[in-house]
Amino acid sequence: MSFPKIGVIGGGQLARMMAPEALNLGFELHILAEGPDVSAARSVPDAPVGDYKDLDTLRAFAQGKDVVTFDHEHVPNEFLTTLIDEGVNIQPRPAALIHAQDKLVMREAIERLGLPNPAWAKVETVEELISFGEETGWPIVLKTPRGGYDGKGVRMLDNVQDAKDAADWFANGPLLAEDKVDFSRELSALVARTPSGEAKAWPVVHTIQVDGVCDEVIAPAQDLDQATATAAAEAALRIANEFGVTGVMAAELFETPGVGAGFVINELAMRPHNTGHWTMNGSVTSQFEQHLRAVLDLPLGQTRELGVTVMKNYLGGANEDLYSAFAAALAAAPEVKVHAYGKSVRPGRKIGHVNVVADAGQSVDELREQANKVAALIRDGVDAKN
Ligand code: ADP
Repeated sequence: MSFPKIGVIGGGQLARMMAPEALNLGFELHILAEGPDVSAARSVPDAPVGDYKDLDTLRAFAQGKDVVTFDHEHVPNEFLTTLIDEGVNIQPRPAALIHAQDKLVMREAIERLGLPNPAWAKVETVEELISFGEETGWPIVLKTPRGGYDGKGVRMLDNVQDAKDAADWFANGPLLAEDKVDFSRELSALVARTPSGEAKAWPVVHTIQVDGVCDEVIAPAQDLDQATATAAAEAALRIANEFGVTGVMAAELFETPGVGAGFVINELAMRPHNTGHWTMNGSVTSQFEQHLRAVLDLPLGQTRELGVTVMKNYLGGANEDLYSAFAAALAAAPEVKVHAYGKSVRPGRKIGHVNVVADAGQSVDELREQANKVAALIRDGVDAKN
């Protein structure tokens, strides 16, 4: 036996944040990078550049790896199947991954399990879309089954005219129509599962989205009904078990107090997730460590929270010198932990986040204020300090 070699396809911040955990555990991490300057490239000694949509590139990368896993869900499923047939250990398996890649497949599978979906339909024409809207009641939501992220590929339709205006979306095949859920909050249930079937959940968190992008997370979700919290975590564990998920999985949820189970499932992600970044400082085991343990089929770590944690993302803005106010940001709140992704600044791009854990009894409002202050200083730089 020797310490394992792990291959990660994709070199974004998720791969980067696996690196320190691999180092701590003595694992060797290798990354298949999209380019020489991606976020994870400098975090590991070995980050060959290659196209994850090319089978030969994937095959060469998988050579000598004990397990291959992902930073994103975009690797063509048929290539993964081929690699598995050739003996590569891929986690999660494509049969599980499909539920994070295709929202229509996911809706059907959730329905089969009898877990809470919003009203939904597969629609192939504007007429079908209109009849769904008429039956369910407007407004409704139209989604491309594949390839959407951060709200791209999602469109709110208020009436028949909006549905007609969406005609061009049907060019690439069937779409997913959903009832527009009247939710009180967005929640996320994060779990991890090993190939042997051990599974663990973190506390359910409250996620605050801005313009379709995760902005802030409060962990655990405050004042969440206990029965709803338990049911949400159990639903995520059940999905992980039934779909054969391995590694970390996030179930994004809409909270619907007093209606049905108190939540409906929005979508699934099968990899460490933005709504789990709080675990880096706020849980006994971070999602990145857990992902590595899980894909290697090692025993999972404790998922208990260490205190209420607030995670705040900072996205690229006008300021390009992210270091200009770094000292001021660190001085402003020494209890806040900064995680910078080493990415160049582009407006709206996720370039880092901060975490703050209430280990001294701070209120959630105080934590949010601290986290927001530090994130804003780094994002806006020294010139915007006042
Ligand atoms: P993406 O894959 O781009 O993250 P999502 O399916 O998560 O897309 O949708 C993005 C956002 O749109 C959600 O965070 C939520 O705010 C809103 N949304 C999506 N589906 C619904 C729905 N059925 N009802 C109400 N809001 C929705």
